[in-house]
Amino acid sequence: MKLATKIIHAGMEPDPSTGAIMIPIYQTSTYVQEAPAQHKGYEYARSQNPTRKALEEAYAAIENAAYGLAFSSGVAATDAVIKLLSPGDQVICSSDLYGGTYRLFTKVFEKFGIRFTFVDTSNNEAVKAALTPSTKLLWVETPTNPLMNITDIAAMSAIARSAGAWLCVDNTFASPYLQNPLDLGADIVMHSATKYLGGHSDVIQGALMLQDADLREKLYFIQKSCGAVPGPQDCFLVLRGIKTLHLRMERHCENGIRIAQWLKANPKVAKVYWPGFEDHPGHTVAKSQMRGFGGMISFELVNDSLEEARRVLSATKLFSLAESLGGVESLVNHPASMTHASIPRAEREKNGLRDSLIRLSVGIEDADDLIDDLQQAIG
Ligand SMILES: *Cc1c(COP(=O)(O)O)cnc(C)c1O
Repeated sequence: MKLATKIIHAGMEPDPSTGAIMIPIYQTSTYVQEAPAQHKGYEYARSQNPTRKALEEAYAAIENAAYGLAFSSGVAATDAVIKLLSPGDQVICSSDLYGGTYRLFTKVFEKFGIRFTFVDTSNNEAVKAALTPSTKLLWVETPTNPLMNITDIAAMSAIARSAGAWLCVDNTFASPYLQNPLDLGADIVMHSATKYLGGHSDVIQGALMLQDADLREKLYFIQKSCGAVPGPQDCFLVLRGIKTLHLRMERHCENGIRIAQWLKANPKVAKVYWPGFEDHPGHTVAKSQMRGFGGMISFELVNDSLEEARRVLSATKLFSLAESLGGVESLVNHPASMTHASIPRAEREKNGLRDSLIRLSVGIEDADDLIDDLQQAIG
């Protein structure tokens, strides 16, 4: 079945008692049992909830996975993956990571004895060189937030396999519409469903998708033991969001192309980070593993000062100044002081994230209006 059909029908059976076409929001904490331990597969809502189950089936379907698991946020999903590991284990991860992932790894898990090695994962040889006998996990984001670096997922999968490690890909930026890491050999896909999957900036949620039954049991055990599960109302919202993922992504991609090209032609813009450009270092790999280039674009101004970046950031009207991305409305963000402020400045600059960098999440409004807005703000 093709994606557009799957995302509308996956996990959806008419409600057996009423015929309701949408899954009800099962707002309940527990389920009545007929006799001790005799029940309908539902005991307690931290472990099972029918609304969550429908969403988890949809999650699996859209990433061509056997299993999906829903978490109360993207970082809670990431947290569950790291809890597969033990003290002494090493994780090799992309150096240009979402700030909250970096904070979770270095500020929470390092003190439990898990070691994180940050490398440029767009360089396969650098990843191979970082492997040690205790490497248990490769954690890759592609495209990266906010510098839009591209990592070759199939190459990472081969490296992980040779080391007996798992490969987990944070697929938030691409969404399942543009990229399916499991098809390229990844073991686990992680999404901040807060972004493109929810799509309407009204919910915080995370997802894991995977193929292996054994790994699914381990992650389900962590999900119910640690308890970072989303409520049924939030599951319902994400389910509804997913139904239009393909339509929204088509428009995000169309608007993304228009705006990336407009920025590139603007004399006040020094550099545009967008993998759709042929001179982007990851363009060939991006073209081979993605079906489009999405609506995330970062750029630097010719006037490379914090003041000028601040001026532009305060001058946009349609692009709202906010963290987050992937919603129907366009957002503008200043990574150095907002989403990536938790990464020390020296570390940011080492990775090429300058204080003047501006990140756009291009929404699905009319592209002409978005360009007019950028024109009046950049001047
Ligand atoms: C937002 C985001 C996360 C974290 O997800 P939350 O839902 O905010 O917890 C992880 N990775 C990427 C790439 C993100 O953009």
